[in-house]
This record gives sequence, structure tokens and C-alpha cells, in this order.
Amino acid sequence: MEKILLLGFADAGQAADKQLLEAAAAVSKLAADLNTAWDIALVGKEIQTVANSLANSGAAHFYGVEGDDFETARYASDLLAAEALVKKSEATLVIVPGTSRANRVVSALSARVNGRADTHLTGITVRDGKITVSRWYYRQRMEGAFARPQRPWILALEPGSVAPAVLSAGTAAVEKITVELPENARRTKVLGMKTPAGTAQTIRPDAKLLFVAGAGWTKKQADGQSHAADAESIILQFLDKSQASLGSTKSLVDMSGEGNAVLSFMTHLNQVGQTGSTPRHPKGLATCCHGEEPHVVGWRFIKERRAVNVDANCGWARGKADVLYVADAFAVMAKVNELLCK
Ligand SMILES: Cc1cc2nc3c(=O)[nH]c(=O)nc-3n(C[C@H](O)[C@H](O)[C@H](O)COP(=O)(O)OP(=O)(O)OC[C@H]3O[C@@H](n4cnc5c(N)ncnc54)[C@H](O)[C@@H]3O)c2cc1C
Repeated sequence: MEKILLLGFADAGQAADKQLLEAAAAVSKLAADLNTAWDIALVGKEIQTVANSLANSGAAHFYGVEGDDFETARYASDLLAAEALVKKSEATLVIVPGTSRANRVVSALSARVNGRADTHLTGITVRDGKITVSRWYYRQRMEGAFARPQRPWILALEPGSVAPAVLSAGTAAVEKITVELPENARRTKVLGMKTPAGTAQTIRPDAKLLFVAGAGWTKKQADGQSHAADAESIILQFLDKSQASLGSTKSLVDMSGEGNAVLSFMTHLNQVGQTGSTPRHPKGLATCCHGEEPHVVGWRFIKERRAVNVDANCGWARGKADVLYVADAFAVMAKVNELLCK
């Protein structure tokens, strides 16, 4: 019989985050399908608050590694804590939310417990009594489903793949495990966080809308001039009012390197597409963007797609958007901002 462990990292004094709640929902369903119990293991400076927020999740037992040494993401200490917890729980299946902190250690963790790890999983199901996981390949073009005989099997669940569990808080009894860190596991110190200016405020993975700006915003317009400054203020005002997440085409983010008029807040982290990101927002609006395949492939998970382009023959018109507004995006977005400001 499988023994299932949900392994997560806790922020001191805070309830379980969305990614942990998503993994809790996935583990709870998996355990029910397999008719088996499941446990939770947490790592952090202070874990009781997270544990309490998961007290009514259905988990049978809570384990934890706690202390100042485990406050921030650090490969050496996170790995030793995770190893101790997996060994203590004797789990055969370990599910972790696929955050950057967890993804950094899962492959080494699988080596230390003589198991296997798979990351970026978007589904964990039971088919004919066999656990089957799925993930996307080749820049989200193909979905594959597979199983593995090796145990422990460590599964990193991609954030946003499962609806988060909705739980009422309670009181969890946590069995604490002591992990003595050797000095060389403390060498790395996290002094703070730095994010690129602009991007920090414009990329919002949980936003309901993805707003994509294309190179057209910086190109010469009907009057023979480019209007990059106007474009900047229109786009920033819209983002501020709508709280949409900002995406870009490759052409636009590449322009800064080519000495063209640019939008100062745009970086390569905003790029959506084949060589960019594949975000998961319910809706998307593309503006001044041609809708070429290498860009639109990044829209795979956007459920409702609209575009504004002056060209009625742009790529969006060829079955890639639900609605194409053939119009000047400067005028459309200025009007939208006016309505949003009312
Ligand atoms: C290997 C490879 C990988 C790639 N990866 C990516 C990727 O990850 N992401 C990506 O985005 N691209 C990628 N590309 C590039 C991609 O093929 C396109 O070149 C790019 O997406 C075009 O960007 P764009 O639509 O912003 O610019 P353009 O093609 O220049 O289109 C600008 C559009 O703006 C419109 N426009 C201009 N003014 C207005 C206005 N006032 N109102 C409304 N519309 C207006 C024009 O009609 C035009 O359609 C890749 C290409 C290759 C070869």
C-alpha cells in the first residue's frame, strides 16, 4: 500500500499559501482514490501556523523541521530537512508544490532516498489502480502521461493545475524532527530579495487578465511618428486600474537591445511564447501584437482570447482569437482607461 506525504515549505506566521493548498487538494483526492491515509511534513522557521491552517485537511499525521536555519530557501539546509522528513515518514509517494524552493531540491532529494523525482506535473490520477501523472512537453505542445515503479516517487505539482483546498483552521499536533546542520550547510545566507524594477509590479500570475503589448506600440503610427511615451502611460494606467498581468512579444522586449524606442518597464521576463512563458490566466487581451505562432503558442492555457490590431489579416484573425477588434489600440485603450477611471 502507498504511503503518501505532502511536503511543503512554510513562511513563519502565515497560513498555507495557494500552492500548498493546491497540493493539499491533489493529495487528499489521490489518497481517497487509493483508499489510504496521508501525512503532512513542513519545513520553516515557524511551522505551527501553517500546520493549523491544514489541521482539517484530512491529513493523519504532521511532521516538521523548524528553526531559524530553515527560514529561507537554501539548497543545503532544505535538502537535509526534506530528507529527514521523507525518511521519518517512510512515504512511498511525496507530493510537493512545484515552487522554486521545492523544485531546487527534489532531484537531490530523490537521489538521497534512492527514489525518483518528476517536476512540472499538471495531473496526478489513479487509472486501473495505478498512479499516473501527466505533464506537458516541447513548450506545452504535447501532454504526456506516465507511471513509475520506483519508490519513493517525488512529484512536484505545477502551481495553478488544481483548485486549492478550502479549509477551516484548527489545531494540529506536529511531531518535530531535529536536523543538525553541518557548518557547510549554513554557508549560504539570504540577505534580501531584489527584483528587476518594473517587472516586479507588472507580472501578476494570479491576475484574471493577461494584457499583452506587442511591438506595434512603438512603431510609426498613421501620423508617421512613433508614440512610445503615450504607449507607456496608456499601458501603465490600464495595468494600474485593471491589475492585469503584463505580457509582451519577443519583438518588443528585444527592441531595447536594438536601440529602438522602448517601453521602459518591459523586460524579457514579460515575454510570452515559444521562447518565453506560458502563463495561465482566464482571459487574455493582445494589443499591437501580430499573433504569430511562436508568440501564440504561449497562450495555450489562456481560456478566452481577444486582440486589438489595425490589420484585419493579422494572425489573431486566423482562428487564434475569440474576438479580434480591428482598431487602433491607442484609441481603444485610451477609451478603456477613461471608462475604468469613471
Ligand atoms: C525560434 C523563434 C522563437 C520565437 N519565440 C517567440 C516568443 O517566445 N514570443 C514571441 O512573442 N515571439 C517569438 N518569436 C517571434 C515571433 O515570430 C514574432 O516575430 C513576434 O511575436 C512578433 O511580435 P509583434 O507581434 O509584437 O510584432 P510585429 O510582428 O511587428 O507586429 C506588430 C503588430 O502591431 C500592429 N499595430 C501597429 N500599430 C497598431 C495600432 N495602433 N493598433 C493596433 N495594432 C497595431 C501591426 O498591425 C502588427 O500586426 C519567435 C520567433 C522565432 C523564430
